[in-house]
Amino acid sequence: MVDALATGGARAVARCDALGVIPYSDMPHGLYRGYLTPAYRAAQDALSGWMAAAGMAVSRDPAANLVGRYEGSDPAAPVLMIGSHLDSVRDGGCYDGPLGVMLGIETVAALHRTGRRMPFAIEVIAFGDEEGSRFPAAMLTSRAVAGTLSPEALDLVDGDGVALADAGVDVARFCTAARAPGSVMAYLEAHIEQGPVLEDQGLAVGVVTGIAAQLRYRVQVDGMAGHAGTTSMPLRRDALAGAAEMIVAIEAIALADRSDVVATVGRIAAGPGAANVIAGQVDFTIDVRSGDVARRDRAADAILDAIEAIAQRRGLGVGIERIHDLPASPCGPHLQDLLDAAVADAGQPVHRLVSGAGHDAMVMAALCPTAMLFIRCRGGISHNPAEHVEPADAEVALQVMVGFVEKLGDACARS
Ligand SMILES: [Zn+2]
Repeated sequence: MVDALATGGARAVARCDALGVIPYSDMPHGLYRGYLTPAYRAAQDALSGWMAAAGMAVSRDPAANLVGRYEGSDPAAPVLMIGSHLDSVRDGGCYDGPLGVMLGIETVAALHRTGRRMPFAIEVIAFGDEEGSRFPAAMLTSRAVAGTLSPEALDLVDGDGVALADAGVDVARFCTAARAPGSVMAYLEAHIEQGPVLEDQGLAVGVVTGIAAQLRYRVQVDGMAGHAGTTSMPLRRDALAGAAEMIVAIEAIALADRSDVVATVGRIAAGPGAANVIAGQVDFTIDVRSGDVARRDRAADAILDAIEAIAQRRGLGVGIERIHDLPASPCGPHLQDLLDAAVADAGQPVHRLVSGAGHDAMVMAALCPTAMLFIRCRGGISHNPAEHVEPADAEVALQVMVGFVEKLGDACARS
């Protein structure tokens, strides 16, 4: 019934919906699809049929990624990979990941319908473990394909005590999913934006310039615990009041930058944690991101300076530990231009934006130039059952992807 729909974009959305329930979900109400679970296998089986119907030869690679290959006129030419991930977070939405895979299939289906071949083969890949919602690691399977995964990283156990080695993959062969350098010409990923920018601007799609550089810190503020009734205000060293001032300063610094810099305090714990005791110790996290690593670092330096100054003025001790430093992953400039041109050809305004979230494309950048197309999602909501994509927007995205592939084909024919 899904396949009776007239247009590829609508069919891609409907297929994501179809995979949002049992047996394609591991939970009875809502969607959770973990890597290598029964729902993952069932979703791969469904995908496999759709890939075959679109003219692709289907296989599973050693990392249990599903790959559909549509042969090109030159079988020896480096391939274009189009993909995204098939797994989901717990109680997630239907489109984060699968929509990019379905649109990849529809892109090939559009070529197959008219018997067209590109100078290069196209491989649609459904990655298995982007979210890291089952095993305590993320993007394992794209790291395997990109050749950046070490075998030691596969010593993993899920929340139920099942080892990855017993979950249905051969860990000894896992890393042989690596593609040879030079064998992949480019990687294209379409993904829901997971943010409100496109909706705010009234745009169906946006061209991603790159994935933001991330920094994460753990901050510990030390004051003096004391009786809430007997310690007069001037004599206090209140760690929680100090942390509150720091958090407001962090927000103000990111706001004042008037750029793509974002800074977040997402977790805080205060001790000893009683209504009648002044907080003696507070721990909180800071997450700072920007598409430009220098801009990110400038904002982070200003934040750390502000924290030190506030601590000093209040007589508080402060310890700051950097726990995470992820470089930016810029998309291929030439591929961004091709996507821009395809967006314009589809009659849409061209808009570029940075991705604040990580994606498989970030990993694939180690192997080949990458391109990403963001698709508007309602309210910017994701990782939530309320995630929603308009079929008309998916249609625009599909047009852009087909246009992108054609332009890449023209560029190859010319060179
Ligand atoms: Zn995703």
